[in-house]
Amino acid sequence: MMRPLDKGPCPTDETGDPIFVHQYTLWRKRLIDRIGYYCVYCNMPLSHSLQVEHVVPKNPPAGYTSGNPLGWENMLLACGPCNNAKGNTPVDVNDYYFPENNNTLLPFQICIHPEHADAAVVQQAEGLESFQQTKAEDTIALLGLANIDRRENIVDIRWLKRREAFVVVESAFTLYQDAKAVGHAHLASLSMAQWAKGIGFFGLWFEKFRNEPEVMQALLNPDILPGTAQDCFDAADGYKLQYRNRHRGIDPI
Ligand SMILES: [Zn+2]
Repeated sequence: MMRPLDKGPCPTDETGDPIFVHQYTLWRKRLIDRIGYYCVYCNMPLSHSLQVEHVVPKNPPAGYTSGNPLGWENMLLACGPCNNAKGNTPVDVNDYYFPENNNTLLPFQICIHPEHADAAVVQQAEGLESFQQTKAEDTIALLGLANIDRRENIVDIRWLKRREAFVVVESAFTLYQDAKAVGHAHLASLSMAQWAKGIGFFGLWFEKFRNEPEVMQALLNPDILPGTAQDCFDAADGYKLQYRNRHRGIDPI
């Protein structure tokens, strides 16, 4: 559901030395260049107020390890609702599924809420081992990815935008099939990727087009959408999702 990311090594200056910043928000432009202007957790496109997010919080409660407050390796981009939900909760990346560590398309799915047809929320995927279910649930809870905000002073619109994206991806898929049937698959696949770039919520696109290798390849094209972790897809098998940690640990996701 979350696009898996590879933001690359710390950017360097003109002499080739890693860049240091004295204020973490100064990473914002470099992060946009590397991974695009999306919240890395909910994958909502961000037109403004992108927050530079510390993966491991800089000010966790006493007794917990704090993350690097200024280092490139601890920085990502997030929307307000995801960043606020996560807050200063102590984070051990091994206890959650995170976009730089895991193939985060595998343990989650986006679905229309069974009792709220106007809302799309994130759930754990089917077929996970029980410890993987726990990690997926904990990640959804950490980021509030199943929240529905119906307050008059609503601030969390993720569920609404996710629901809209759901409809758009369905239409896009129908149009792609029509174009493919008349021999325009290549051009249409590039259009799909451009469309996905504008709409975000990439998990929906990767799920819907999982059996369309030409679209999968276009979605992975860094000239269209930078920063997707290529090793989460099997280029030799139609860009099907594959485990990211298949050679180490007990959890290959
Ligand atoms: Zn978000």
